[in-house]
Amino acid sequence: MSGNESRMQAIYQITNREPMSVTQPEPLSKIWACDVFNLAKMEESLSKNAFKAVKNTVQTGAPLDAATADIVAAAMKEWAMSKGVKFFSHIFYPMTNITAEKHDGFIITNSDGNAITEFTGSLLIKGEPDGSSFPNGSIRMTNAARGYTAWDPTSPVYIMNTDNGSTLMIPCVFMSWTGEALDKKIPLLRSNDAMNKAARKVLSIMGETDIAPLNSSCGAEQEYFLVDANFANSRPDLLLAGRTLFGAAPAKGQQFDDHYFGAIPARVQVYMQDLEDQLYRLGIPAKTHHNEVAPGQFEIAPYFEAANIAADHQQLMMTLLKSTAKKHGFICLLHEKPFAGVNGSGKHVNWSVGNATQGNLLDPGKTPHDNLNFLLFCGAVIRGVNLFGPLLRAVVATASNDHRLGANEAPPAILSVYLGDQLEKVFQDIKDGKLATSKEGGLMDLGLPQILHFERDPGDRNRTSPFAFTGNRFEFRAVGSNQSVSGPLVAMNTILADSLNWIAEKLEAKLKKKGTSQADAVFAVLKELMNEHGNAVFGGDGYSAEWHKMAVEERGLKNIPTAADALPILRDKAVKQLFKSTGVLSPVELESRYEVYAEQYILSIEVEAKLVVEMATTAIYPAAISYLFELTGASSSMAEMGIKIENSVAKSIAAEANAMMAGVDKLNAALAQHDFSNTEKHMQHCAKVLRSLMDEVRSHADTLETLVADELWPLPKYREMLFIK
Ligand code: ADP
Ligand code: MG
Repeated sequence: MSGNESRMQAIYQITNREPMSVTQPEPLSKIWACDVFNLAKMEESLSKNAFKAVKNTVQTGAPLDAATADIVAAAMKEWAMSKGVKFFSHIFYPMTNITAEKHDGFIITNSDGNAITEFTGSLLIKGEPDGSSFPNGSIRMTNAARGYTAWDPTSPVYIMNTDNGSTLMIPCVFMSWTGEALDKKIPLLRSNDAMNKAARKVLSIMGETDIAPLNSSCGAEQEYFLVDANFANSRPDLLLAGRTLFGAAPAKGQQFDDHYFGAIPARVQVYMQDLEDQLYRLGIPAKTHHNEVAPGQFEIAPYFEAANIAADHQQLMMTLLKSTAKKHGFICLLHEKPFAGVNGSGKHVNWSVGNATQGNLLDPGKTPHDNLNFLLFCGAVIRGVNLFGPLLRAVVATASNDHRLGANEAPPAILSVYLGDQLEKVFQDIKDGKLATSKEGGLMDLGLPQILHFERDPGDRNRTSPFAFTGNRFEFRAVGSNQSVSGPLVAMNTILADSLNWIAEKLEAKLKKKGTSQADAVFAVLKELMNEHGNAVFGGDGYSAEWHKMAVEERGLKNIPTAADALPILRDKAVKQLFKSTGVLSPVELESRYEVYAEQYILSIEVEAKLVVEMATTAIYPAAISYLFELTGASSSMAEMGIKIENSVAKSIAAEANAMMAGVDKLNAALAQHDFSNTEKHMQHCAKVLRSLMDEVRSHADTLETLVADELWPLPKYREMLFIK
C-alpha cells in the first residue's frame, strides 16, 4: 500500500464507521460509586465493632489489628465475588507517572482438588510485587530488589471492569524493605501530615481551640486530544512518542476559535458519556467537560476531593480516558504538545487546605478573625513560591512539558504568584505598613472595612500566570497534562508547611511582647514576609518580554527554560533541607527521585530522536525520491518532445531531501555520543543538541510535505488528524 493509500483507507474507515450506539444512560443514583467498597458498604456488611475499627483506620490512617483486617478482607471478597470478580490487585504509583498493578486470583485448591477462595487480612494489607522492574534511583541494589506494597486504607478499594473481566483493586503505597518511599503516594501522605502539623501550630497560636485534622484538596482540570485510531496507527511517532515529530501546519489551524465555542462533536459526546458513566461507577465526580482551544482538544474536570483520593482518581481517570478512547476508535493523547503550532495540553491543579472546624483556610471567610487566618495562609503560599519557585518548576519538569512551558502559550518558566487586584493591594498595603498601625482593637480602627471582601476573581482573568489565586484556592497551571498530580501536590503542601512553621515561630515571638494584639502580630509578621518575599507577587502579563527581564534582573526570580535545567534543583541544599526538616523525603529518597526523573528525561528524548531518524529515512526520504523520480522522468520525456518544463520543484525537493538526510547524519552521530561525565551533562546534550537537530530534520521534512504530491505522502497530515472525526 502506498502511503497515500493507507491515508485514504483511514479516511474511508472513519467516514463509513458505524456510529457507536448510545447506551441508555443509567440514573446517577443507580451507578454512583456502585463499584466502590466505601464506608457505607462496609457499614452494611461488618459488625459494629469491626466497622468502628476500620472507620477509624480509614479516617486517620491508624493501623488495623490483624483480626479486624481478616474480617474486612472477608467482607471485601464477598462483596467483590458477588459482582463476578475473581481477581484482586494491589495498585500503586511508582516514581514514574504510571500506575502499576499485580493481579492475583482469590482461588486456591483444597486437598480434594476443589477450588475454594481465600482473601485474608494479610493479603489485603501487604503485597510483594517483583519490584526490580520499577525505577528506584539507587535506593535498592538489584540483588535486593524487593519492595512491598501496603494497603492505603484512606483510599477505598474498587472494582475495575474491563472487557477481559473484573478485578478488585486495592490502592497501595510502595516502599523498599528498608522503609524508603518508592512511589508517589507516600510523599503525598507525608506532605499532608507535615502541612497538618504546621497549620495546627499557626491556628492554635491564633487562639483556635477546636482544630480538626487538616487536609489538602485537589481538583485537576485535564486537557486531552482525541485522534482517530486509523490515523494514529499509521503514525509511528503518535504510537511510540505520543506526539507528532513531523507535520506541516495546515492551512486552517485554530485561528477561528470555532472549535472552542462550538458544539462537542457527536462521536465525542458518546465517548464522554461512556467515560463519565465509568467514572461515576468508581465514585469519581466528573463535573465539567467541554471543547478546548485546539481542534480535536477537550477538557474534563472532576469536583475537587481530598488530595490523596484526588491523586488516585486522577491516575484512574487518565487510564480510563485512554482505554475508553480505544473502545470508540480513537486514541487519547495526553502529551503536552501533540501537534506543533497547535495549542498544547496542560493540567490545572486547583489546590486548597482546610478542615471541618475552620473550613477552607484559603477562603477569606466572613469575619475579621477568618480574614486574619486567611491572610496568614495566603502569605505562607507567597513565601513558599518566592523561596521555592525553582522547586515548583522542577516538579513540572518533563521532556514533554518543555514544549509548553516557556513557549508563550502556557505559563512561563518563571514561577510567580498572581493574587488578583484586590488581594494584591491588601498585601501591598501590609507591606507599606498601612495595615500595621493598629490602635487598640485591631482592624476596626484602620479606616478599612471591618471585613476584607474579595470578589471571586474569575479564574481566567490572568491566564499568563503559572500560579494564581482564584477566590478560594490556588491554581497551579504549569503542570503537564501527562503528569501525576502527586509531585506538584507534594511540593505545594511541603512549602506551605515550611512557611507555616516559619510564621508560627515569628507570631509566637511577637505575641510574647506584652500588649501586642493578635492583629498587630499578624500584620507585623506579614509585613516582614512581604518585605522578604513579595517579589514573587506579579499581576501583569507573564508572557511579556518586560516581565522576563524584570523578573530576573530586578526581582531575583529564576527563569528555568528546560527540564534539564530544572531537575538538578532537586539536589539543591535548600530543597534537601526543606524535605528533610518537614519529614516528607529523606535526602536518599530525594536523590533517587532526581535520578529517576533525569533518566526518564534522557530516555524519552533519545527515543524521539531515534524515531526521527527512522521516519525521515524510511518514510519521508523515499516519498521525496519517488516524487523526484516522477518529476525528472516526466521532465526528460518532455524534453525529448521538445517541451521544456519548469523544474524548480524538483530542485527544491532535491535540496530539502539532501539537507534532511544531512541532518539525520548529524543526529545519528549525536545519538551515538555516550561519554558524559555526569547525568546533568547528558541531560543538557539532550536538551540542546538532540532537540535542535530533531528540529532541523523536521523543518526540512515539513517543507517536503508541502512540495511532494499529496498522493505520495506517507503520513496522515495535520488537517486530517485534527479535523476528521
Ligand atoms: P476554571 O475553568 O474557572 O478554572 P473549573 O470549574 O473548570 O474552573 O475547575 C475548577 C476546579 O477547581 C474543579 O475541579 C473544582 O472542583 C476545583 N475547586 C473548586 N474549589 C476548590 C477548592 N476549594 N480547592 C480545590 N479545588 C477546588
Ligand atoms: Mg482553571
